Amino acid sequence: MDFSAELQDRISRQLAQVHGRIADACADAGRSPETVTLVAVSKTQPAAAIAAAAAAGQRDFGENYLQEALAKQPVLAGQGLVWHFIGPIQSNKTREIAAHFDWVHGVDRLKIAQRLSEQRPAALAPLQICLQVNISGEDSKSGVAPADVSTLAAQVAGLPRLQLRGLMAIPAPVRAGGDLREPFRALRWLQQSLNNAGLALDTLSMGMSDDLEAAVAEGATQVRIGTAIFGARAPL
Ligand SMILES: *Cc1c(COP(=O)(O)O)cnc(C)c1O
Repeated sequence: MDFSAELQDRISRQLAQVHGRIADACADAGRSPETVTLVAVSKTQPAAAIAAAAAAGQRDFGENYLQEALAKQPVLAGQGLVWHFIGPIQSNKTREIAAHFDWVHGVDRLKIAQRLSEQRPAALAPLQICLQVNISGEDSKSGVAPADVSTLAAQVAGLPRLQLRGLMAIPAPVRAGGDLREPFRALRWLQQSLNNAGLALDTLSMGMSDDLEAAVAEGATQVRIGTAIFGARAPL
């Protein structure tokens, strides 16, 4: 599809900056940069911006709003892009999410997981799942409570058309002087306790534009980055 040289330049440059931040954070943590997948969060961005990122080598894209994603995906078909659904999931949207995405990061209850498993088309690989954890214990946030993760994880791990890969969180903003890494560390410990109990989870989806370094320091394997790649989003 057509997009301007200006758009291509800007997105290539910002993508390179984000890769640089990931590389620096990995170096500080003694990790290899290949252990961190960059998920470019393209919600509210036009298909042209996604195409420009894809032309710069970006493969994984995260979308929050189903209708918006379904409108853009056909324009970008055939490029081998990997689509992550990272928004809240209503049960009447599971069929289309199961058919049009490779990963779903926001699963926080069994009913949603059961529907995604039942509705995942047989021709596609199992849907890759992260359970969203309400790691900061916010009243308003979606996500399963930390105390309930192990029960949900065991149930989801048994669903035939899903592959449970790990945990995802969006921590509450940390107050000035607070420890940015603490909620990410808590998510990593939760994952370790699940693995000690017999699961084999390899994914920690955590870290956004403002806190990717703290997340990588605590073991993030997928960082979900929007603003730092595409610029500020227009308010919805
Ligand atoms: C919007 C969004 C992001 C990206 O946030 P930025 O601050 O723009 O990097 C990451 N994860 C989720 C779940 C989001 O909704």
